[in-house]
Amino acid sequence: MSTWLYPGSFDPVTMGHMDIIARASRLCDRLLVAVLKNDAKKGTFSVEERLDFLRRSTGRWPNVEVFAFSGLTVELLRQTQADAVLRGLRNVNDFVFEQQVAMVNRGLDPQAETLLMMSSPTVSHISSSMVLSVGLHGGSLSGLVPDAVLEDISRKLSHPMG
Ligand code: ADP
Repeated sequence: MSTWLYPGSFDPVTMGHMDIIARASRLCDRLLVAVLKNDAKKGTFSVEERLDFLRRSTGRWPNVEVFAFSGLTVELLRQTQADAVLRGLRNVNDFVFEQQVAMVNRGLDPQAETLLMMSSPTVSHISSSMVLSVGLHGGSLSGLVPDAVLEDISRKLSHPMG
């Protein structure tokens, strides 16, 4: 039985994340999606909002679980007994970063394996930060974030104080 751990900020979830989640959930038995809490980086959406958006977007896949975690990814790997950390790759910039993170994790725990999954070409331009800048300026987020949470994300970004 294979368990993969997909950690990230998910601030907010995008169609890029959904592409990885949909494809990975077909390849492993259990996919654990972890919203990593970062005290140094407050984020635009609260951790509770990010979890809610992810859960509403992934509810159709029974083998996908969504939760929050604060701490080291290797610690979460150990606690969940997942087989590997999964990360998405859009381009060479992602690769350079992910290679460093994978090596650091391997240094902290020699057993830590990292799997990198190439994004589908239709979503390789999408990032949470791009969604934020489009949404904050009132642009349509259709096709950039899951339909199930499109309205809530758009509303919050167009009324950031509300
Ligand atoms: P982090 O702050 O940890 O990079 P993100 O929420 O930005 O968190 O990303 C989580 C993971 O999803 C990372 O592995 C990132 O490369 C991947 N990812 C983000 N957007 C896309 C996309 N459009 N296609 C494929 N993978 C993506």
